[in-house]
Amino acid sequence: MNFKQIMVAGSGVLGYQIAFQTAFHGFKVTVYDVNDQVLDKAKAKFHELSTCYQQDMQASQAQLDATFANLSYQSDLALAVQDADLVIEAVPEDPSIKRDFYEKLAKVAPEKTIFATNTSTLLPSQFAEFTGRPEKFLALHFANRIWKNNTAEIMGHQSTDAQVYADVVEFAKAIGMLALPLHKEQPGFIINTLLVPFLVSALELWVNDVADPETIDKTWMKGLGNPMGPFAIIDMVGITTAHNVAKLQAEATQSPVMQRIVDKLKTEMIDQGNLGTPTGKGFYSYPNPAFEQADFLKD
Ligand code: NAD
Repeated sequence: MNFKQIMVAGSGVLGYQIAFQTAFHGFKVTVYDVNDQVLDKAKAKFHELSTCYQQDMQASQAQLDATFANLSYQSDLALAVQDADLVIEAVPEDPSIKRDFYEKLAKVAPEKTIFATNTSTLLPSQFAEFTGRPEKFLALHFANRIWKNNTAEIMGHQSTDAQVYADVVEFAKAIGMLALPLHKEQPGFIINTLLVPFLVSALELWVNDVADPETIDKTWMKGLGNPMGPFAIIDMVGITTAHNVAKLQAEATQSPVMQRIVDKLKTEMIDQGNLGTPTGKGFYSYPNPAFEQADFLKD
């Protein structure tokens, strides 16, 4: 792996974290987004993020200064990618936006540049033909709060070159990730293949009035010694995303119980403005949610 210059496309929830983590580990990073106003917002978010690195990673001021020195910003796609060894794409999870992005990128990227998508639910084979370089294209999937939840799932498609795959595994390690190789394409990677059915089961217990969210979480936490139950996780993921995923499943399966989950999340949570940790209220109230209190598992 001989990567030096990385371009991160999209500076939203995940993109700006990927950019900062990569710059923190010594790579030159160009942050690309649709316009300069969005990039200005990203710059402000980097300053907030740097305090998390101080608190959680004991990052020194010198390390943070070096990180900021490694970051640059560009809203012209051709200029953003001109020296890139690797592009990490974190544009919205919308197939038409991603396809359009790859078609434009393919026209201006140097031949050497490897493309990696951070998609959560889509497959690299869906976009390979639009990249103009299927053998240099794969998925590199990070988790939210990348500096602490430092997983990188690496998933190629049928035509991904073995050396490209190996280089991206090495890169993931070089930016402090636990590299998790997948041998074949899998919708939802490993994490969401495990997590989504678990969260749906918890929501089923809730809509069927089997138990309330706190009791369900207590059962999981105490029974398995885990620090968070499914409803705390749903708050962290965000109720809007949980609702969107449930809606897709309800449409795909025509399951009546899934439809009741969709409806209940809408009327009892979203319509009340309870969107999870993003709004400070979901199944729990934040900061200092009940499940983090010492007496939560006591009686
Ligand atoms: P987001 O909506 O927060 O950010 C998307 C960013 O892309 C925005 O800054 C937007 O301005 C920019 N953008 C839109 N069109 C663009 C274009 N054509 N070129 C460049 N930038 C463009 O989305 P997000 O939550 O950061 O998700 C981005 C990707 O990361 C998705 O594929 C998502 O599935 C994946 N992901 C998200 C999470 C998460 O927890 N949010 C976790 C893992 C992976």
